This record gives sequence, structure tokens and C-alpha cells, in this order.
Amino acid sequence: MLYHCLAMDKHQLQKELEKSRAELWMFYEIGNLMRTTLKLEEILYIILTCVTSHEGLGFNRAMLFLVNERKKTLEGKVGIGPDTAEEAEKIWKRIEAEKTTLKDLISIYKAFIKRKGSRLDKVVKSIKVPLRESGGILALTVLEGMTFEITTDEVSKKVKDPICALLKTEHFVTVPLKAKDKTIGIILVDNIFTKEPITKDDIRILTMFANQAGLAIENSHLYEKTVSLSHSDSLTNLINHGRFQYLLSRDLKHAAKLKKPASLLMIDIDNFKNFNDILGHPAGDMVLINIAKILKKACRSTDIVARYGGEEFIVALFDTNKESAWGLAERLRQAVEKFDFPGQEIQPDKNLTISLGLASFPEDAKNKAQLISKADSALYQAKAAGKNRTHIYSAAIEQR
Ligand code: GH3
Ligand code: MG
Ligand code: MG
Repeated sequence: MLYHCLAMDKHQLQKELEKSRAELWMFYEIGNLMRTTLKLEEILYIILTCVTSHEGLGFNRAMLFLVNERKKTLEGKVGIGPDTAEEAEKIWKRIEAEKTTLKDLISIYKAFIKRKGSRLDKVVKSIKVPLRESGGILALTVLEGMTFEITTDEVSKKVKDPICALLKTEHFVTVPLKAKDKTIGIILVDNIFTKEPITKDDIRILTMFANQAGLAIENSHLYEKTVSLSHSDSLTNLINHGRFQYLLSRDLKHAAKLKKPASLLMIDIDNFKNFNDILGHPAGDMVLINIAKILKKACRSTDIVARYGGEEFIVALFDTNKESAWGLAERLRQAVEKFDFPGQEIQPDKNLTISLGLASFPEDAKNKAQLISKADSALYQAKAAGKNRTHIYSAAIEQR
């Protein structure tokens, strides 16, 4: 009898040991996968693939929501999982037959990002709840920083929470994603197709995983913030010179391929040295900030508006010929002319103004360097002609 008990314990122990080893291996593997990228979009897919894959945590469906601190909302970002039981069956059979590993699944999902995404993904992306009690169980997971398990019974009672109806779920778990001591989002999982119960053990592993995932997301946030800072000008928040050069090269190639025109406006403040000399650099900086705002407001989101140098701005307009670009240039010039810059009375014309040079692709220039140079020379012509005007590049004038 005693021998039998010992044998049972040994067997049990061995099973526990095997399970722990499998868990350890899984966490090691997941940690490695999360270190393969710093791009937020990729990180989110990797996390959910780990949660749903059989080699990972093996839930039927997983959804990820992130906190928007500014708007005090929780927003759906990614949903992974089949749309129907039949689709689930098909996918799982294929994974089994092809012995698809977690790594394989992630490369599939990298392609999936570029595609349109599943129905679940679309539903998740449409979800936005306020971070208050009215935000239901999703908001509560963030506010309390706690894991919640909602059972079938509770789901039928909590029909008021729109999330249950929206996801057609019956038994689900929400876990907070934590980075240091802050909750930055949540993961929601369910086994809607297999109806397998979610055990205490499943929840324990999911919570451990969520802590690791939370840190990976936070690192990616920091990385993306740094990249964005390195692309922008800190005074005006416009794109800086380096980023502009990159974007213009990229978009001009695109324009050439599609045989579409593009136009460039080089802009310089008139008599700015005078303004700075009399009113000081801080007042001059305010002018730069206001002009950046005027330019941004008047341009389309597809145009590139950048601070090119000290008091020079540049605007790239795609799918825009010279005539349309001229119209915009004049609107920009007039908007600056009309703007009441504090202190502008000390300027020669008692008004702060800009001059603009316009050149177009492929009409005036065959490449980026030529286009910039031609717009610059048109600007020079505008200054020479008396300032506060737009000049269109003309080879004839340049040769004189
Ligand atoms: P023009 O009409 O021919 O363009 O004359 P200008 O006085 O504007 O041209 P100039 O090149 O002589 O002077 C440019 C001035 O721009 C010099 C500098 O004081 C000012 N400037 C350049 N960058 C900044 C900046 O970041 N902040 C401020 N406040 N001023 C700047
Ligand atoms: Mg200048
Ligand atoms: Mg100037």
C-alpha cells in the first residue's frame, strides 16, 4: 500500500516536473520571439499568437486592448482567432498536419498584418470604452489592475456589458498588461469553439505571460517615441530636414512610377534677421511656431511639411501640378500676410511676410536634388523681385 502511494507520488511528481519544464521552455521561446522586433504592431501580433498557438498558451481566441492615456479610454488593437467553429477546425487540423511551430505562425501573422485581418480583428479594432465604471469589465480590469474570470452564468447575467454580445463569448478571462506598476492594457481570452474550461492553472500562466508582454509593449512604446522624436523638429513639431529628405526620395520614386506630378515649395521668412535683432530670438521662435501651424493647417495630410533650416520651410505636394501648387502657395503666402504676429510693426513693411519658390517634377527636375535646387533658385528670384511673393521656377530667368 505504502509502495503504491510512493509510486503514485513519483508519477505525479514526474508529471508536474514535465509540465514545469514545458512552461519554462515556452516562456523562454516566447521571450526570444518578443525580442525579435521593437515595432509595436508586430509585438502585439506576436503576443496574441503566443496566447492562441498550441505551442503557446493554446486559447481559442485572444484580443488585446491598450490604454489611451490622453483620451482616458481603452482601445481595441488586435484580435486573433478563427471567425467560426468550422474555420477553427480547419486551421487547427492544418497546424497539426503541417506541424506548424510558434515561429512559423508568427511569420504567417507578419504577412497577416499586411493583409486586411479577420472579422474578429475588425470587431476588436472598433472597440473603444471609457476608463470608468461605464466601460464595463474591460475598463474594470485596467482600473483594478486585476484578472477577471467571467463564467457562463455571469455572462448571461451581465448582458448589459456590450462586450459579451459583441464578442458572442460565454466564458472568458481578462488580464491586465502591466509595465512596472502601471496597467497599460489588457488581454481577453476565451475558448469559444472548443468550450474547454479555463482552469486556475491557465489563468496563472496567462497572468505570468501578461507581465512579460506588458514590458515588451512598454519597451516598444519607448522605442517608437524615440524614433518619432528623431524625425521631428523640437521647436515647431514639423518633420525635420533629415526625415524630409528620406520621405521626398521615397515619394518621388513613387510619383515617377505612377507617372504623377509633384511640386515643391521652398519658403523663407522675409527680413527675419531684422525681427530677431530688434525683438530677440524668443519672439522670433514664436513666429516660427505660428508659421508652422499656418502651413500645417493649409496643407493636406498627404503633403509633407517640414522645417528645412533655420527660418526656411519646405512643402512637398504629391499628385499636384504647377498650377494647383501655385494656388496653394499663394494661399499660404496670404495666410501669413494676414496673420497678426505680435511685434510685426517693426518689419520694413510693418508686416511679417514670407517668400516662396515653386518647382515641379518632372517638368523642371528629373530627381530630388534638382527639384530642391530649382525651388531654391525660384525662391531666390522671389526675394530679388521684392519679397512677399511666390515665384515659379523659370530656366530663362535663372540664365540671365
Ligand atoms: P531675407 O528676407 O532675404 O530672407 O532676409 P532675412 O533677414 O530673413 O535673412 P538672413 O539670412 O539675413 O537671416 C535669417 C535669420 O533667421 C537669421 C537668424 O536670426 C534667424 N533664424 C534662423 N533660425 C532661427 C531660429 O531657430 N530661431 C530664431 N528666432 N531665429 C532664427
Ligand atoms: Mg534664409
Ligand atoms: Mg529670410
